[in-house]
Formats: sequence, C-alpha cells, structure tokens
Amino acid sequence: MLEKVLIANRGEIALRILRACRELGIRTVAVHSSADRDLKHVRLADETVCIGPAASADSYLNIPAIISAAEVTAADAIHPGYGFLSENADFAERVEHSGFIFIGPKAETIRLMGDKVSAIRAMKEAGIPCVPGSDGPLDDDDARNLRFASEIGYPVIIKAAGGGGGRGMRVVHKEADLLGAISVTRNEARSAFGNATVYMEKFLVNPRHVEIQVLADSHGNAIHLGERDCSMQRRHQKVVEESPAPGITEAQRQEIGERCAEACRRIGYRGAGTFEFLYEDGNFYFIEMNTRIQVEHPVTEMVTGVDLVKEQLNVAAGELLRYSQADIEVRGHAIECRINAEDPDKFIPSPGKITQYHAPGGPGIRVDSHIYTGYAVPPYYDSMIGKLIAFGDDRDSALARMRTALSEIVVEGIKTNVPLHRRILDDEQFRAGGTNIHYLEQKLGLK
Ligand code: ADP
Repeated sequence: MLEKVLIANRGEIALRILRACRELGIRTVAVHSSADRDLKHVRLADETVCIGPAASADSYLNIPAIISAAEVTAADAIHPGYGFLSENADFAERVEHSGFIFIGPKAETIRLMGDKVSAIRAMKEAGIPCVPGSDGPLDDDDARNLRFASEIGYPVIIKAAGGGGGRGMRVVHKEADLLGAISVTRNEARSAFGNATVYMEKFLVNPRHVEIQVLADSHGNAIHLGERDCSMQRRHQKVVEESPAPGITEAQRQEIGERCAEACRRIGYRGAGTFEFLYEDGNFYFIEMNTRIQVEHPVTEMVTGVDLVKEQLNVAAGELLRYSQADIEVRGHAIECRINAEDPDKFIPSPGKITQYHAPGGPGIRVDSHIYTGYAVPPYYDSMIGKLIAFGDDRDSALARMRTALSEIVVEGIKTNVPLHRRILDDEQFRAGGTNIHYLEQKLGLK
C-alpha cells in the first residue's frame, strides 16, 4: 500500500481523497494556494504546503511547485482529483519521471483519450458504438466534407479534436452553412486549444447523457460498475446525476458495460474512468472518455457499495482489483445534486462568507462538502461547494429523501442553487424519469 499521498486539488474532492487515505492508513499532504489556507482538508491533512498565489495558473496548475512539494514531503504518489491537472498527460509524465506514482492511467492513455479523434478511432476498434461521423479529421477538401455531411445526414456537428468543457463545437443544419462552420470552428479550435483539428458527427436531436463507470488494475483486469444518467445539464454542465439511469435494462447495462470493460483491457487502461455516451432510441453512441474520478462518482458508490477512491489508491499501488464483475450488483437508486455558490436564477457566482450552515442528514443521505459555518468561498475557483447525495431502495424513495434533504439544508451569507434543485425535484417530468439533455434549459426558459 501507499504510505503518503499528495492531494493536488482543492474543495470537496480533496476532502474526499483525504478521507479515503485516512481510512486506509495513508498519510496525506495537502497542497494549497494562499487563498485556500482555511480549506477543511488543509486543516485535516498530516502535512500542508502552500504552492502559490490564488490564481490557479500559479498554484493548482503549477506543475514544478506540485512536484517540489512531493519531493520535500517525500510523498509516494499524487492524486490529481478532477479538473486542474487530472487529464494533463504532460503532468502525469512528469510525476512519474520524478519518481512518484500518478494516481490515474498512464500518460499515453491520457494522451490517446484527450484527442477526441484518436479516442473515437481507438474505441471503434475496440467495439464501442460511436456516433456516425467522419471517422477522422476533416481536411481542406470541400467536396469531400460536403459528401461526408450528406452521407451522415443533416444536422451534423463540427467538433474540435482538442475541445473540452462544452466548447469548440458547432451544429450545422443545412448544406449552405457547412463549409463556413468548418472554417470558423477550425479557427476557434486553433486559438482556444492550440489544435486546429476538427471532425464531423451526426447531431443527435434529443439524446440523454448516459455514462459507464469502469475500474481497471495494471494486471489486465477491468470491470464496469453500471451507468449514470447525467442528462440534467445547463450549458453542458451537469446539475443532477443519478444511478441507475431510468429505463435502462439489466441486459443493456451488461452489454454496454462489458464492451467498456473490454475496451479497457485492450488499451491497457489503469484506474477509474468513465465512458460518456449519448443515448437515443435505445442506442448508445460514444462521445468521449474521462480518464479520472468524476464529480458524480458517489451515485455509483451508493448503488454498488464500492469506494471508487479507495480502489483508485489500491490499483495505483499495483494491487489487483479487489472485485470481479460478478461481485458488482446495482442495488437501489441514488441521486446527486451539485450545490453551487451562485444565484439560482441568473447563475452568477456568489462567493463570500458562509454565516450559517446546517447540513441535512438521516437515512440514505450523504453530504460531500468542505464548507462550514464561517468558511469564506473564494472567488477564484469553480463555484461548486458540495454535493448532496440521496440513496433509496428505489427511485421514488431516493427522490423523497432528496426532497427532504433539500428542505433541511441551510446555507446563509451567500446565494446557492438550492432553490433550483427544489424546483427540479418538484418537476413532474423529472420525477417521471428519462428527460433528455435539453430538458433543463427548456424548462428554465433558456432555450
Ligand atoms: P466536452 O469534452 O466539451 O464536454 P463532449 O464531446 O463530451 O464535449 O460533448 C459535450 C456535450 O455536447 C454533450 O453532452 C452533448 O450535450 C453535446 N453533444 C456533443 N456531441 C453531440 C452530438 N453528436 N449530437 C448531439 N449533441 C452532442
């Protein structure tokens, strides 16, 4: 087992990682910016190192500072969490070259999956169903690009190979707009991601977002842990997630899940990962893989009983996976609400001091959050201040527990999106289950 882990992140995920380490008897190093001295995990960690000023570029994205902190504290391994450097192949490589274990896949795997064109190619070869598309980058041959689009059928979407965070894509509804859209997306991709490569996919009109959680060790073993439905999105950002996905049958789960596990074996995947799909008319279409732990991992933990962060630590230490596929059973239902420090109507961030905080509780309620009364939410980072997770024997019971929890939670001094979550939980169609990725924006009148 590992002896000391450096946590290269902040907020709720840093606390989540610290808790897993403590359970396993692993010592922890919290690295933090000068704006984050009061973070809960910084107070709980065995050792702390300030790695720079508030701006992420100078602290949480400062690779030399993080590696020096691992050196001075003699850590064995670095856990990147999500966001920041978690999917940066150069970081993973430098961590390993400096003699530390990177808690995640090999740098080459991150690189393969970080380029969407190479990821789609690798996944197609591995038997994963993908969105019909150009099967590779678009070049300057206008006639070829027009032919692709008419074969695929309009609407199509032009996407940047290096895109992320919902940026670098453009939907095209008719032939007359195609060539212009390709050139605009290419220029944007060049300036935003330093990579002008673009590709084409069929634009699915009313899909749901359904993703598969996987775990793999470095000995060729891989399993899947069922799916999550993350269709409740605003601006491609997930707001509510749940597992299992409403309406997915056990046979569908095993079929797509086994394909993902097999793809992991083929590419030599290591650690926790997620295959993201659009799901429409009973079919799965791969869009991308996330090579890290995800924000919404707790819903999978609640329905499978597997602690994904502990398993990440376990396989990073070179151990065998402690579960076989037959050990994984999806039981009950879990829902997660992401709590953000923001105006619930205008979505403007609302940093500041929390003057009162009362966490909800009771059977089946889990709160993953670093906030406390008196904590000041800094203005420099993502506005998520925690996650509320409700588990029940079935979806209705999970919904009832989540509603109760949302009625109990008190966060004063700043604005939060709790009122938005209350609206969502009261919504007839959400309660019925299976709403698509446009539903939340349509309901909010944003589209
Ligand atoms: P990113 O890496 O920026 O998150 P993704 O490829 O995961 O990009 O796509 C983000 C979102 O964009 C999806 O969740 C979906 O809402 C929309 N999207 C992407 N590709 C398609 C497509 N082919 N058809 C319809 N919607 C799409």
